[in-house]
Amino acid sequence: MKKKYIDGIDLSADVVIFEKCPQGGGNTAVSSGGMMIPNNRERAIEYLRKTYDFANSEKDDELLTAFVDEAMKSKDFLLSLAPDQKVYIYGHAGFQSIPESDAIDKWRFRTPKGQKTRGGDMLFNNYRYAVETVRKIPVVYNARGLELITRNDEVLGAWIEIDGKKEAVKAKKAVVLATGGYEFDDKMLPNHTMGQKFHRLGHPGNTGDGVRMAQAAGADLWHMN
Ligand SMILES: Cc1cc2nc3c(=O)[nH]c(=O)nc-3n(C[C@H](O)[C@H](O)[C@H](O)COP(=O)(O)OP(=O)(O)OC[C@H]3O[C@@H](n4cnc5c(N)ncnc54)[C@H](O)[C@@H]3O)c2cc1C
Repeated sequence: MKKKYIDGIDLSADVVIFEKCPQGGGNTAVSSGGMMIPNNRERAIEYLRKTYDFANSEKDDELLTAFVDEAMKSKDFLLSLAPDQKVYIYGHAGFQSIPESDAIDKWRFRTPKGQKTRGGDMLFNNYRYAVETVRKIPVVYNARGLELITRNDEVLGAWIEIDGKKEAVKAKKAVVLATGGYEFDDKMLPNHTMGQKFHRLGHPGNTGDGVRMAQAAGADLWHMN
């Protein structure tokens, strides 16, 4: 796809967002808004490898490297979302007993003087600004993705329930699933966390819908716990 830029802003894709809840934000808006950004590629990869080993967990080097390479671009990306933003470092990667944890900085948007918004709200407000004001991307609320529409191996669109009415939406190029986690699904939470009576922390809209939609279209799951 040929990229189209105006004033350095990527306007290439023609997008519509369907949000299940009456308002946006998800876990992003209730999070601490901390952004993990590597300051040294090789040391960050080494640190992350060690966290997998520490957790006795299967790792995929290609995925890990791609994650670090993309994460290193995220400060510029975040600052491009909305004008006059400032970020600051408030710590490093989570497991400081693991060597090289200082190769990843933890960044956050600075709250402008006189404003109370902080953490995840600051982050989400900047996303919202980039979507609504800069890119003018339409957002349809009370619109729940139900099922991907496929033909052979191709995803053609999705069934969406909008204000209680089921509609088939055709995609021009692709459907991006960004439906968050499964913490508010009574079956998936104990199943994937392998336990009972876990406390839920986060957004009630996250009931694993996208996971089930992807599985129904043939996707496999990895690292769900
Ligand atoms: C208290 C807390 C603190 C955290 N702090 C940090 C931190 O400091 N740093 C960090 O990196 N991470 C942090 N996290 C984790 C981080 O917030 C999440 O990993 C991240 O926000 C996930 O973003 P997302 O876009 O995938 O999902 P979300 O931001 O959760 O968005 C998912 C959206 O999809 C919508 N949705 C769900 N199902 C459907 C459907 N069928 N159709 C349409 N829409 C649907 C939901 O309503 C929601 O709006 C924290 C999490 C919590 C709960």
